[in-house]
Amino acid sequence: MESLLELYRTCSIVSRSFSFCWRMREDCFCYDDDALKILPRPMPHQGATAFLQRAEFLQGAEREKFLRHFAFLVMHPFRRGSRTRPRQVVLGLLDTDGNIWYFRLTYQLEVQMDGGRVVYGTLQDISEFYRETAALRESLRHDAMTGLYAKTYVPQLINQILSLWGMKGQHHALLVLDLDHFKQVNDQLGHLIGDAVILDLALALKMGFRKQDVLGHIGGDEFVVFMPNVTEKEVIERCGQFRASVRRKLGEPPDEVQLTGSIGIAFAPEHGSEYRTLFAKADAALYEAKKRGRDGQVVYDDAFGQQRRGMVKDKTKTADYKELTEKPLDYIFRVVLHSQDTGLSVHLLLEIFAKYFHVQRAYVFWNIDGVYWPRLLYEYRARPEDAGFAAHNPEIRRRMWRRYRTGDYGRFTECADVWMLPPQTKQLFEKAGICAWLECAFMEGSAFLGGVGFDDTSGTHEWNRAEHEVLAAFANIMHRFLLGQIYYERTKNAGSIYF
Ligand code: GH3
Ligand code: MG
Repeated sequence: MESLLELYRTCSIVSRSFSFCWRMREDCFCYDDDALKILPRPMPHQGATAFLQRAEFLQGAEREKFLRHFAFLVMHPFRRGSRTRPRQVVLGLLDTDGNIWYFRLTYQLEVQMDGGRVVYGTLQDISEFYRETAALRESLRHDAMTGLYAKTYVPQLINQILSLWGMKGQHHALLVLDLDHFKQVNDQLGHLIGDAVILDLALALKMGFRKQDVLGHIGGDEFVVFMPNVTEKEVIERCGQFRASVRRKLGEPPDEVQLTGSIGIAFAPEHGSEYRTLFAKADAALYEAKKRGRDGQVVYDDAFGQQRRGMVKDKTKTADYKELTEKPLDYIFRVVLHSQDTGLSVHLLLEIFAKYFHVQRAYVFWNIDGVYWPRLLYEYRARPEDAGFAAHNPEIRRRMWRRYRTGDYGRFTECADVWMLPPQTKQLFEKAGICAWLECAFMEGSAFLGGVGFDDTSGTHEWNRAEHEVLAAFANIMHRFLLGQIYYERTKNAGSIYF
């Protein structure tokens, strides 16, 4: 009969994973030495904290990702006697020859009653699986027919490039190209010829645009081209040349078809700073080019007004994230001031916050019915199943209220992970579907009038400075606005009583 240790060792080698325990106070990292057959480089048993902090076994973004988890474990102010929920992260570790190995790290932090922190975890070598899925992911990024970037990947890629460039004086162009009356090619010459024309067009795009331009195939006869750091003159010239290269007659009379293409153009940053906005505007310009008789190119103009294929109405996507996070008060005032309807603008702001900060719920409440049973005034929910504001449960409100603390920007209660709470409280929040929350109160002296909050119902959420600042600015404005409304209601009612 094998001993349990032998069994563990065999399973560990077979599954290419091993377990460890890191005691921070003793600065000791315990693992079985057999793990050295799996790890790309040895880990010291003593002096682990300094070794992990240096993180020389990681590079670039991988290192930053790891250090975020490291800081969370070492510095986050957890309660004694609590433990976090298990967390997972995939890390690319470097061996001493500079090769990358992919490991899945699963860990849980336990904060003992004496304040000592212990991390229990496993590391599993998933390099082979990771490379296979990476190859699959890469193949999904390309359109099988033309080899250009696929529709699903184009927005992500272009947004990445836009954020890499930033908006520091450079101009970028987004082009939407579509063949004119392409259905005639299919109808008169057949689908096979139609397919060949699409392939030809993809080839013409590769020849006609620059090496750094992103080429995507987003529909039957429809393509996008993103040209980073380009002048308007160059865009117009290239578009003209490209249309000339497409223009030709196909087939023989009487089945002859004239092939031409139309192009809609939008520029960043003039027309937008992210893909969805730019695409919607380039698409509206394409529609205009078709209306003007096809075989042409048009630069977007606000006067077009007309929308094609549901031009983006989603105002949250056109909001300027930089302004929201750097000057939250200005931003919030601008949205509220430009709106005819304050209620609508509050809903819009909640939706903007939820989308930018990746939370599923954002809300405003007022303690009209008491601190433990406040009234929910406005709420945005990303998913219908996220209904159930914590205010509907007085026990939750009571516990939240007890956790309020005064911070740099105002009075807040927050939790990065409800798993860190005492078991009963954790259960209560879990039942309400809350995994993490951030709330900011409106205070009038020592009276707690109400507040605004974010709930993450999908997992843990480490609240950052921008989220605190935006919530505090919003609480400030909501506080004044709601007081104004209540005053107005009171004077209106007073009027009706006395006159
Ligand atoms: P317009 O000038 O308004 O663009 O007219 P159009 O005929 O080109 O119309 P539209 O762009 O809306 O339609 C594109 C047509 O392309 C519709 C469909 O029959 C055809 N199509 C879509 N995918 C494929 C494909 O993979 N191969 C072929 N041969 N045809 C396709
Ligand atoms: Mg077409």
